[in-house]
Amino acid sequence: MVHEVTFIPGDGTGPEIAEATRRVLEATGVPFQWDVQHAGVDIMEKEGTPLPNRVLESLRRTKLGIKGPITTPIGTGFRSVNVALRKTLDLYACLRPCKSYPGVRSRYQGIDIVLVRENTEDLYAGIEFEKGSPYIRQISDLCVASGQQALREDTGLSLKPISEFGARRIVKFAFEYARAHGRKKVTAVTKANIMKYTDGLFLAVARQVAADYRDIQFEEMLVDNMCMQLVQKPELYDVLVLPNLYGDILSDLSAGLVGGLGVAPGANIGDQAALFEPVHGSAPKYTGQNKVNPMAMMFSGMLLLQHIGETAAAGLMERAMAEVIREGKSVTYDMKPDRNDPTAVGTSQVADAIIAKMEELRVRA
Ligand code: NAD
Repeated sequence: MVHEVTFIPGDGTGPEIAEATRRVLEATGVPFQWDVQHAGVDIMEKEGTPLPNRVLESLRRTKLGIKGPITTPIGTGFRSVNVALRKTLDLYACLRPCKSYPGVRSRYQGIDIVLVRENTEDLYAGIEFEKGSPYIRQISDLCVASGQQALREDTGLSLKPISEFGARRIVKFAFEYARAHGRKKVTAVTKANIMKYTDGLFLAVARQVAADYRDIQFEEMLVDNMCMQLVQKPELYDVLVLPNLYGDILSDLSAGLVGGLGVAPGANIGDQAALFEPVHGSAPKYTGQNKVNPMAMMFSGMLLLQHIGETAAAGLMERAMAEVIREGKSVTYDMKPDRNDPTAVGTSQVADAIIAKMEELRVRA
C-alpha cells in the first residue's frame, strides 16, 4: 500500500534534514507518495502567511505529515506555525521517546522512556490576564465570594484549565500506546496534592482509565519527585503521561538524559492527523551548509513508520541508525567528542551512511 504523506520541509536548515530523511524513508522500501507543502518564513514573503490553508487541507486529507523545523521570528507578530498546526488540527498528544543509543555522548545508559504530553490545556491554554486589566479585579471578587483569597491589585494571571475530557483522552492515548508497543508501565505525573481540582482531576481520571488496562502497570508520581527519580534512576521508567507544562519541562530533561537535541524525535498526534517532527528548531545560522544533524528528524520518520504499522521498516531503520551512531564515523560535528573534529560528515552523508547500512543489514539477514 502506498502511503500518502504531507511533507513540510520547513525553513532554515529544515529542507536539508528533511531531504536526508526522505531519502532514508524511501530506502526502507516502504512506498510513499509525498505531498510537498512549503510553509514558514519564505512562504510568508510569497503568500502573505507562513501557514497557507493548503498545508492544513493536505494534512486533513492525508492525516499524516512529516515536518522540518520552522522559524518563529521574534517581534514580527507572526505567530508560531508549529503552535498553529497543533491548535488547528487539535493534535492533543505530544509523543517524545527518549532512548539511549550507544555512541551518543551522555551521562546515562539504558534509558528507554516515552513521554506523552497533553498538548492543548493547562497553563499553555493561553488564557491570561495582564496586570492592570479590569478582569483581575472581577476575578479577585469571584475568589473572595467563593471563600478564597483576594488577588493583589498588581497581579498578572494565567489560568490552568484541565478538563476531564482532555485528561481522559491523553491518558487513554498513553495506555493504548503502551499496549501497542509492548510497554509494561504507565506513570502519571502530577502535583495532585497541591492542585486538587486540576492535577487532582487529571490523576483521578488516570486511575479510572488505568482500571481498563489491567495488563499494564500503573504508577503515580509527584512531579518534583519525578524530576529527582529521572536524574537518579531513569532506567526504571517506561511511559510517562503528563499535563502540558510538566510534559514540556520533563521532555527536555529526558532528551538531555539521552544526549540532547541532535537525536530527539517527536510527534504531535490527534484524531484528525499525526505530524512527526524533530524537537529541535531550524538552527538558521547553519542554513545551506550541509552541516546539521538529520538524525532527530530521521528518528521522527521512524516513529511515522511505527504509527502506520510499518514495523519491520521502522526496525530496520532504527538498527541502521544505531549502528552508524555506534561506529561514530559518519556522524555530524555535534556527535563527535570534539565539535571541531575534521572527520565529521555533512547532513546528506549521514543519509548515505544509513542507507548503505540498511542495505548491509538486509544482505546480512
Ligand atoms: P534550535 O534548536 O534551532 O538551536 C539550538 C542549538 O542547537 C543551536 O546551537 C543549534 O545550532 C543547535 N542545533 C539545533 N538543531 C541541530 C541539529 N539538527 N544538528 C546540530 N545542531 C543543532 O533552537 P533555537 O535557536 O532556539 O531556535 C531557532 C528557530 O527555530 C526559532 O525561530 C524557533 O522558534 C524555531 N523552533 C522551531 C521548532 C519547530 O519547528 N518545531 C522547534 C523549536 C524551535
